[in-house]
Amino acid sequence: MAIREIRKDGDEILSKKCREVEVIDDKVKELAQDMLETMYKNDGIGLAACQVGILKRIVVYDVAYIQEDGKREGHILINPKIISRSKSMIEVEEGCLSFPDVYDNVIRHEKVTVEYTDLDGKKRKINAKDIEAVCLQHEIDHLDGIVFLDRVAEQK
Ligand SMILES: [Zn+2]
Repeated sequence: MAIREIRKDGDEILSKKCREVEVIDDKVKELAQDMLETMYKNDGIGLAACQVGILKRIVVYDVAYIQEDGKREGHILINPKIISRSKSMIEVEEGCLSFPDVYDNVIRHEKVTVEYTDLDGKKRKINAKDIEAVCLQHEIDHLDGIVFLDRVAEQK
């Protein structure tokens, strides 16, 4: 495993669209594990592949880590897709490993259902709410080249 370099504000890769993962090979698995390690190392709760310079639709996240005193519960999502969104919205202050020391409030759906493929190639679903839902919306936005400050700008 290796810690990867996080692409920062101003890097054009952050505004590019990521491509679907067609085959879950060793390279994809290694990348996903590296992403998790890189996220933990930088005290993040989520990371998208484009943030480490790879334009693939892969997201990792762990919201238990900040809530339960260092307990790790990392998730790896290949080709995640939001398939339903609640009408109710919540406003939460967000940050991003690609924008160090920048925080702002973003309005997002309170609940989302996300469909994805796991590392074994199985289709799975997550019903997420609150911080987990916010995190997933933030990370899946990254896969479409959208950063949280774009959402802030469109909501103002
Ligand atoms: Zn981010």
